[in-house]
This record gives sequence, structure tokens and C-alpha cells, in this order.
Amino acid sequence: MNFKELSVEELLNWVKEKGLEKYRAEQLLYWLYKKPAKTFSEMSNLPAALRKELEENFSLFSLKEVETIKSADQTEKKLFITEDGEFVESVIIPDKDRLTLCISTQIGCRMGCRFCLTGYQGFKRNLRTCEILDQILLVKLQGYPITNIVIMGMGEPLDNFENTTKALKLMFDERALGLSYRKVTLSTIGIIPELEELLKTFPKLALSLSLNAPDGEKRAEIMPMEKRYPIKEILAILRKYQKNRRKMFTMEYVLLKGFNDSEDDARKLTGLLKGLRCKINLIPFNPWPGSPFERPEEERVLRFQEILIEKGYSTFIRKSKGKDILAACGQLRWKKQLNPEGSAN
Ligand code: SF4
Repeated sequence: MNFKELSVEELLNWVKEKGLEKYRAEQLLYWLYKKPAKTFSEMSNLPAALRKELEENFSLFSLKEVETIKSADQTEKKLFITEDGEFVESVIIPDKDRLTLCISTQIGCRMGCRFCLTGYQGFKRNLRTCEILDQILLVKLQGYPITNIVIMGMGEPLDNFENTTKALKLMFDERALGLSYRKVTLSTIGIIPELEELLKTFPKLALSLSLNAPDGEKRAEIMPMEKRYPIKEILAILRKYQKNRRKMFTMEYVLLKGFNDSEDDARKLTGLLKGLRCKINLIPFNPWPGSPFERPEEERVLRFQEILIEKGYSTFIRKSKGKDILAACGQLRWKKQLNPEGSAN
């Protein structure tokens, strides 16, 4: 068992069932999330017998770091290995006064987006709650002053709803990680029932929608899940929930050369988003070996942005980070586990 599989209430119950005082749970939570401790033996204010018992029966970390590679632009990619030998990626992205950690929620992904290497690799399994949280805790343990968390790495977080929401609760709970809602962003392609549930449970959570097309027809060509969860219905849900929120939603739009990057696409996009308070992040495609798309020219990206700004949308172009270290989602795992010989196609 790993304690980070338990909600705070479940951990309090565990302590109670053991016949221990309530303050032992608070001590345990401190060592698990606030400090965090590297080993149970470091948990100095717990009785020696309890520490011994914990050491013998529980694992403290569910992941082990196997590799860190640093890009010339200071982006760092961490590759972790799970207890069953699977690889999980996290990325640390510095930007001015921010240090953002991008974490994964699944090993692979079953959504099959055609522009995404993780989607191309297929699905292996969901990450456990402790594996989602350990990406944050292992980085914290190494002293990185992380300011923001984005749940945007490998996998679709709403396809691993139970473990992701359990991890979110532990991220926001003051007794556990105690992160601010302003500092955590979840990115999804919009799985409708879970999306509504998420917005109800975490009304203050920053949410990014992976949109990527100006209409449903085009979106279905690159995102198979569009057929099941149409973009119009997803946006209707966001319009409904925006009334209760101060924070705007973010639309992510990967620009694919010759597919969704024309002036006409930009205009259509503003039509699709009508009535939704949102900002737009444009992400010029970062090609991977064998990818079916190319990156658009800068001029075209700037023109796309200009049209959206003219229509009143705050629109940003995401800079490509860590190009020299395979920083895009799924690339390092692909190199290490699925394609160790390095044959590109
Ligand atoms: S873009 Fe996200 S949802 Fe789509 S295949 Fe990649 S990881 Fe999965």
C-alpha cells in the first residue's frame, strides 16, 4: 500500500483504526506532503515502532527517477519508472518568474489524436493517484521551486477520472499539498459526463480545452473522440459553467500546416467560440519523427493570432520549449521504451 492512494479522510480513518491519536495523522501528512520525507525513518516525530512497521509494509514513493535531460533553454524532462516497469514523463518549464511542472495521468492514451505522439503510441494503463502525485513530490524533494502545475502530460486526465480527481483533492487540501487553485491547470479534450462532474466538484480549477479545429467536422479528422463528444456540446457546457466562475477558460489550438491554420479557419473559430469568455493559446505544431503534419510558417501563425485579437480574444502563441530534448508529450517514453534503437519511422 502507498499512503498517497488515500484521501485525507481515509488516512485519518486508518490512523483511528490503528488505535493511534489523531495528531499522528497530521504528522504523517506533514511528512508525506509538506516536507516531504525521503524515507519513513526520517519521520522523526513518529514512534520508532510505527516507523519500522511503515517501512516494512508500505512503499513511500511509487516512482523512481531514471533520467533527467536538460535543454539549452533550461526546460528539463524527467523520466520516471513505475513499480511495474512503465515509463512516465514530466517536464519542468521555466518562464520568467514561473517554474511550471507538467505532469502525466496515464501511460499512453486511448484518445488517438492524430497530431500527438502519445496518442499514436496507444494506451497502456491509468496512473494511480500516488503515481500522479509522486511526479510533484519527487520534484519538490529535489528542491525545484515549482510555482505552477499543469496536468497536460501523457494521457487524458478525464479518462482516468477517479485517480485524477483524488489527486486534485490532495493537491488542494490544506492538510496535504495545499496548492492554490490559481496554480493548477487541467487540460482535457472534453469527455462530457466527466467534464461536467469536474466543473461541479472544482468550480475554481483552471481549465484548458484542447480544441484544435474551427468546427466539428475538421476536429473529427484529427480527434476521433469528436464523434462521441461533439465540440458544440462541450462548449455549451463551458458556457453554462462560466457564469459561476471568475477565471476564464483557455482554448488550446495546435496549428497544423495547411490543415487548420488559414485565415478562414481563424474567422470560423471566432464564430464557434461566440458567447464564451476565453483566452486562446496557439501552439505551432512540434513535429515528431513520422508525424503526419508539419509546423506552419511563423508568418501564418502571426496572421492567425492577429485575426483572433481583432475579434477581441486574448491570444498567445506558445513558445516551443526543449526542442533539443524531445520535450513534447510522449517523446522521451517513446525513445526509451518503444523505440530503443532510435529508428524514426
Ligand atoms: S493530445 Fe492528449 S488526449 Fe489527445 S492523444 Fe495526446 S495525450 Fe491523448
